[in-house]
Amino acid sequence: MTYSLELAREKFKDLFELSLDLIYVHDFRGKFLDANEITLEKLGYNREEINNLSFNDLISKDQLTVAFKALTEIRDFGKQITPREYRLKKKNGDFIYIETYGIPLKEDGKIFGIFGIARDITERMIAEQKLKESEEKYRRLVNNITDIIIEEDLNSKILYLSPKIFEILGYQPQELIGSKLYKYIHPKDFPMAVERAKELVNTGKIEALRYRLRHKDGHYVETSAKGTIYKINGKNRYIGVIRDITEQIKATQKLKESEEKYRLISENANDLIAVINQKSKFEYINEKIHIKILGFSKDDFIGKSTSEFIHPDDINNTIKSFKKGFEYGELIDLVRFKDKNGIYHWLEVRGNRFTDQDGEMKILMIARDITEKKEAAQKLKESEEKYRAVVEQANDGIVIIQNDLFKYVNPSFCKMTGYRHEELIDNSYKILVHPEAINEVADRHTRRMVGEDIVKTYDTLLISKNGKRIDVSVNVSVIIYNGKPANLTIFHNITERKKMEGKLKESEEKYRSILENIEEGYFELDLKGNFTFVNEYHSNFLGIPKDKLIGYNYADLVDQKYKKMLFKIFTQVYREEVPSATFDVEVTRYDGVKLIYEGTCNLKLDSNGKKIGFYSLTRDITERKKMEALREKFTEQLKIEVGMKTKELQEIISQQKLYLEQIIKASQFKTEFMGSMSHELRTPLNAIIGFTDLLLESSYGPVNEDQFDFLKDIKSSGEHLLYMIDQILNISRIEAGELNLRFQEINLKSHIAQIKSSIQPMYEKKKLEFEIIGLDTDKSIYADPIRLKEIFYNLLTNAIKFTNKGKITLKILDKEDQWEFQVIDTGIGIMKKNFDLIFKEFKRVESPEVIAVLGSGLGLPITRKLVYMHGGTISFTSEIGKGSTFIFTIPRNIEQKNQELE
Ligand code: ADP
Repeated sequence: MTYSLELAREKFKDLFELSLDLIYVHDFRGKFLDANEITLEKLGYNREEINNLSFNDLISKDQLTVAFKALTEIRDFGKQITPREYRLKKKNGDFIYIETYGIPLKEDGKIFGIFGIARDITERMIAEQKLKESEEKYRRLVNNITDIIIEEDLNSKILYLSPKIFEILGYQPQELIGSKLYKYIHPKDFPMAVERAKELVNTGKIEALRYRLRHKDGHYVETSAKGTIYKINGKNRYIGVIRDITEQIKATQKLKESEEKYRLISENANDLIAVINQKSKFEYINEKIHIKILGFSKDDFIGKSTSEFIHPDDINNTIKSFKKGFEYGELIDLVRFKDKNGIYHWLEVRGNRFTDQDGEMKILMIARDITEKKEAAQKLKESEEKYRAVVEQANDGIVIIQNDLFKYVNPSFCKMTGYRHEELIDNSYKILVHPEAINEVADRHTRRMVGEDIVKTYDTLLISKNGKRIDVSVNVSVIIYNGKPANLTIFHNITERKKMEGKLKESEEKYRSILENIEEGYFELDLKGNFTFVNEYHSNFLGIPKDKLIGYNYADLVDQKYKKMLFKIFTQVYREEVPSATFDVEVTRYDGVKLIYEGTCNLKLDSNGKKIGFYSLTRDITERKKMEALREKFTEQLKIEVGMKTKELQEIISQQKLYLEQIIKASQFKTEFMGSMSHELRTPLNAIIGFTDLLLESSYGPVNEDQFDFLKDIKSSGEHLLYMIDQILNISRIEAGELNLRFQEINLKSHIAQIKSSIQPMYEKKKLEFEIIGLDTDKSIYADPIRLKEIFYNLLTNAIKFTNKGKITLKILDKEDQWEFQVIDTGIGIMKKNFDLIFKEFKRVESPEVIAVLGSGLGLPITRKLVYMHGGTISFTSEIGKGSTFIFTIPRNIEQKNQELE
């Protein structure tokens, strides 16, 4: 430390110690030489430490140049021209800001150091720093704001403009600062802007004022401005924000336009357009259409629930649909919607979910009235069904062919062709065309499909599935089917007709050829009597060729006297419509020969029954007529001969009549004779037998052995004779109708018991068995007891007579409406050849066995007659050597039968 310093210190002692400023001394290198207490305090160093420091250790590096400049200044000019500010680093690392001023320290006129005084400006510096930072922040903010920030004084002079002004109006802020903004407002907006400025003055605020500002290039920019009045540094300032709203306006305009457009579309649409909210209530409706279709006005709808208008049957579905629409964003539905008159319309509804600006989900509903369409569809369906039914029921085959393929075939067509429906659909029609016709049909089809005018109705041939030929008449028309041309063909089966036609032709040919070949004449005339047909025979008969005859009139050919007659006949046939009787006509042949024919006249009708002429069958009777004339000549002679013969015959007949009478008489006589004769014979015969008995009993004296034998013979012959006579008597009486039956109830058991006992000696004598079957219980039969006994007796005695060993059986069968009795023996039997014989009177089988047995040959004939008289039947079976069975029946209800017979 030099003197000078001490001196200086001494000099400024008070200042040094008492100063609030930092006071220090340093040399030109910055090395501290001295410092007051405040300096030490502010920097945090002690005296010793500070004396080892240089101020380059304390000030920041960027200030070093400035600091040395100040040192140089002081050294070179002897004084510091301006105070300087430094930032010093304190011992604890903090900073302190100081403002210094230096004075040179001289000794002997020579500057050796600097005496510095520094004020602590740290607080001010920090405040300044903060301000700067804040300003920087706002500046950046302002610069980045899309709006223009403007600051004006109350005289409207522009004090500040944010750089955004360039973007919006094309001016740099500096160009406008100092001028007034209203110069740039659109003249039209100016009065309004002035008006609003007053408001600003009154209230201190301005709310969204819209005006147009002129751009540097002359066009106007839509802006909106708002601002407030502030007090800044004690002065009133207006700070405002100007926003470019061109885009916004454009957007709004566009939105408006678009809204308008859609509103117009909606209002002018032919569909019903409505907006429905989540409560199913109408929020919007395009009125015009609703009025037109439903008769309701907008107000009838808005706020109302859809269900008020929907058909009760459709409500549930509609609710579901809306729910779905809200859930999935889309809906399609078909509902009946009521109009003001209560009539329901079918609406086809399509809906789309959308979210409105309030974030609420709604459904935009577009509905179309399809009532007419639906009704039309219904009608179409009905009509289609009707036509379908007609087509399906039709007897004709109906098909639709498109691109050569069957697209539709009706059942009749399937039936006609034998194919199944699915075998035809989508298959070529060609499989069905008969090979004979295919070329023609295909050609027609192709030409028709390209639009040529081809005949629509013609006959052709089809071939069925099983190869059968089908004659058809077709009717073809071109139609539009599924949007494309197709061929509608109707097939009428004419196979039968063709067959008939064929048959008719054949038959006609046949008859023609018959007509040509018959040996009779045939010709046809028209109503005027002109020949239309003549057969070979008739033309030959007339001697005129057939072709020459055609066109000739019949009247020209017949002789005069027949013309009238024929005319009469034709007229009558025509009028009465019945064939004429046969008539004879005389004609003169070209060679003058007279000919006669016999003919009939018939009406000729066409297929509709219309009279178109006559036909006649003729026969040449010229020869016959000649013969007849000849025959007449002989007739007289014949008559005489016949007369004679007749006389002869009559004589013979009367002779025979006489014989016949005699025969009848003889027959009656025979019966009477037989009856009376038998009667007359019985008396002497009884006498003979009676007297023979007396002789045999030796009543008139003894007889010798020979006499005895003769007498026995006489007796048995007599008895036989008597039997024979009885039989003859019987049969005579029956034949004479003298025998009457006396019916009564008979106890069959006792009746047969009597018979049994009367025949018992006979079968016992021959050692034959006798059995009765079928008579366990009491039975009663209605018959003549005497005659019934006779029947049984005859049959049973025959059985015994013609049986030598074995058994006789009487079988009784108690049947429902008759009795059946069987007499069965094990005897000799009857040969087949004699079956017819045994019921004949006096006939017996001529065999040794039979001859050996006595008999009359009358037993069976009488038996049969008696059975018949009872209303019964008799038959027999027999085998030679084995036996015979005689069967007879007696009806139960003879009485009834007798009555019936009467
Ligand atoms: P008759 O017995 O008196 O000869 P019928 O009229 O009763 O006469 O019988 C006719 C004939 O029929 C007999 O002669 C006999 O040839 C034959 N005939 C009848 N009954 C029998 C019988 N049961 N078996 C075999 N032949 C019979």
